[in-house]
Amino acid sequence: MKKYALVTGGSRGIGREICMKVAALGYAVIINYKTNDEEAQHTLEMILHGGGEGELLKFDVSDPQAIDKALDEWFESHHEAYIAVLVNNAGIRRDNLLVFMSDAEWNDVLSTNLGSFFHITRKVLKNMLINRYGRIVNVVSLSGIKGLPGQTNYSAAKAGMIAATKALAQEVGRKNVTVNAVAPGFIRTDMTKDMDEKDFKALIPLNRFGNPEEVAEVVAFLASDKASYITGEVVSVNGGIYT
Ligand code: NAP
Repeated sequence: MKKYALVTGGSRGIGREICMKVAALGYAVIINYKTNDEEAQHTLEMILHGGGEGELLKFDVSDPQAIDKALDEWFESHHEAYIAVLVNNAGIRRDNLLVFMSDAEWNDVLSTNLGSFFHITRKVLKNMLINRYGRIVNVVSLSGIKGLPGQTNYSAAKAGMIAATKALAQEVGRKNVTVNAVAPGFIRTDMTKDMDEKDFKALIPLNRFGNPEEVAEVVAFLASDKASYITGEVVSVNGGIYT
């Protein structure tokens, strides 16, 4: 049976590098994204260029109906396949001080980061349990461990994902499905392009922002057979910021 890896938010940044590395593990990669067709196509071409296999699956991870529709159609057209690896990577920030935070800023961040974890994982998990093999990796954040001011919404969403990671790991371990989280610190992507590295690097023992590949390397390890006895863990990739 052909095995796929679904990576949410695979069009850019950390997700693109994760797509490349799970393709190198031998999985056909399903590249999810929301709007950016050009960048998603670019990720797909990079995978194909490297000798891997992939396809695009555009849907909004914050919308449960869109998730159901996209994945039901995918299952219908891929009878002889199953998704053995799920990387819940898509995420957004909408920073504001809580006292000024709008309902939309709260709800969008919670539904895109945490709601998506629930709706997508529920859908994909069933076949992992039936096949008695699965790797789920959730991309969380330093913010979800430490809490960062101006990010009560994002910190709450990522902390929720961390707790869900630990709970789900205990539910599905007997079926050989592992569930882990990777918590990046400050990584050079579009998400941090409004932050001046000079202002923050003194806080980081390694004295620089990280690169997307440095996060993707750890995600790919946890998604691989090599990580067969690790579950319910949160691995920080943050240049040594003590959490
Ligand atoms: P990014 O460069 O902003 O890329 C975000 C990705 O998520 C894009 O592929 C985007 O698709 C996709 N996305 C956003 N909303 C979506 C939605 N509703 N439905 C489907 N796809 C959606 O972000 P990044 O820095 O690579 O971050 C990746 C993950 O790492 C996120 O979960 C983020 O919270 C986490 N993280 C990042 C940092 C950092 O410093 N960068 C630190 C800690 C944690 P489109 O291209 O279509 O918009």
